[in-house]
Amino acid sequence: MRLFLAMLSHETNTFSNVPTDRAQFEARDLRYGGEIVEAYRGTGTCLGGMIRAAERLGATLVPSVAAAASPAGRVTKDIYEHVKHRMLADLEAAGRLDGVLLDLHGAMVPEGIDDGEGDILKAVREKVGPGVPIAVTLDFHGNLGRDMIAHADLLHGYKTYPHVDMAERGAEAAERLVQVIDHRIRPTAAWRKPPLLPPLGNQGTTRGPMRRLYALADEMEKDPKVISVSIFAGFPYADIPDAGLGIYVVTDDDQPLAERLATELERVAWEHRHEFVHSALPVKDAVARALAAPGRPVVLADMADNTGGGAAGDGTEILRELLRVGARGATVACIWDAAAVQSCVKAGVGGRVTLEIGGKVDDRHGAPLRVTGTVRTLSDGRFVHRGPMMTGLPGRLGPTAVLDVDDVKVILITYRWQTLDPLSEKILVVKSTIHYRAAFEPIAKEIIEVDAPGLSSSNLARFDFRRIRRPIFPLDPDLVYETD
Ligand SMILES: [Zn+2]
Repeated sequence: MRLFLAMLSHETNTFSNVPTDRAQFEARDLRYGGEIVEAYRGTGTCLGGMIRAAERLGATLVPSVAAAASPAGRVTKDIYEHVKHRMLADLEAAGRLDGVLLDLHGAMVPEGIDDGEGDILKAVREKVGPGVPIAVTLDFHGNLGRDMIAHADLLHGYKTYPHVDMAERGAEAAERLVQVIDHRIRPTAAWRKPPLLPPLGNQGTTRGPMRRLYALADEMEKDPKVISVSIFAGFPYADIPDAGLGIYVVTDDDQPLAERLATELERVAWEHRHEFVHSALPVKDAVARALAAPGRPVVLADMADNTGGGAAGDGTEILRELLRVGARGATVACIWDAAAVQSCVKAGVGGRVTLEIGGKVDDRHGAPLRVTGTVRTLSDGRFVHRGPMMTGLPGRLGPTAVLDVDDVKVILITYRWQTLDPLSEKILVVKSTIHYRAAFEPIAKEIIEVDAPGLSSSNLARFDFRRIRRPIFPLDPDLVYETD
């Protein structure tokens, strides 16, 4: 059995002014052919799970291209077309294929195309024809759209946020694909898109409305006629018509059952929509509370400046307040500022520098902050994920400097990346909305959610939406919507 394997993953924040170009993919991941299997085998990723399951089931993988970049603005046309054409050319050259396995995201917005995954799947379907089944893994933040459903046989969304089940979903997609190929199951899918645009802040699956929905989905999946249930919380910072929560139920040759379960999930999501509304503490209050908190570490979550949600990652407001009040034993992880790193490299370890850090990408993450400090360490920023997410996968922050400013350590990085791996400090500022919880919840004495400015803010009123569906909750709070 021969299975085609490819990955194209990007979460696009259309409010970002940082284009996601080829260099952004090269900084994170752009691989071809057999190298993909070598790089991802054994990792806690979708590809890792797909490879494990395929090898266990004795399938032969035909690896094509694997491309991923940190969330930012629209994916530029040249790199998008390059990856798409590479995939199609490899499909052409692959000869006979029994199935196609794709690891996509679901919230990728290339230049000139609203639904990147729909566009890819349509092209892949045209290439392989109707007889070759296609199974896809999608991120929990995918903005489900018509073309994704029309052109794939199976979609498997992550069921967790923090995303700790990527390998499990990858394995599931591969196993189910093999069952379709063997004619042991025949997928029939139903989907719903209620007018709901949940901000990230309350999308976590350990509590709240998504826990409630997945508890219900878990029950539904116990029925052997149910192949899988995916509830996409959606990515609200993509100003496109498909943005928002999506429900996808796939059953084994039972369309009425799929429809019934999808309707039930939609009803519950709508009924509990107010639980998605999120609020966090203003910067001053949050810092004061962290200083007063006993024990360590206390985590200050800079939720709105999450590079994993496409924010700049160079927000300065929490650091500014920490320095203003003379905080001791605090670390800020991490500020994306390649120019500041270079100033530190020039000064060398132990050197004194005065420089402006952060606030340079746009005017939505605070102003640059002038500081004087001592360079504590310099490194090449290479690391391996040791936390519960993407376990075992190497990562790159690029040239990295740790700068001591009074008693606050500031980690300055060259490539944008979210803080996912645990550190122990008295006060720790992480630029992350939910993902940090996977590693930090077990060790933090207290977690304080901060409402600083930024492009992943859960306060959706801060965004100038122009193209999303309206009316939509919570932007139109009094919206009346009848589920079937
Ligand atoms: Zn996600």
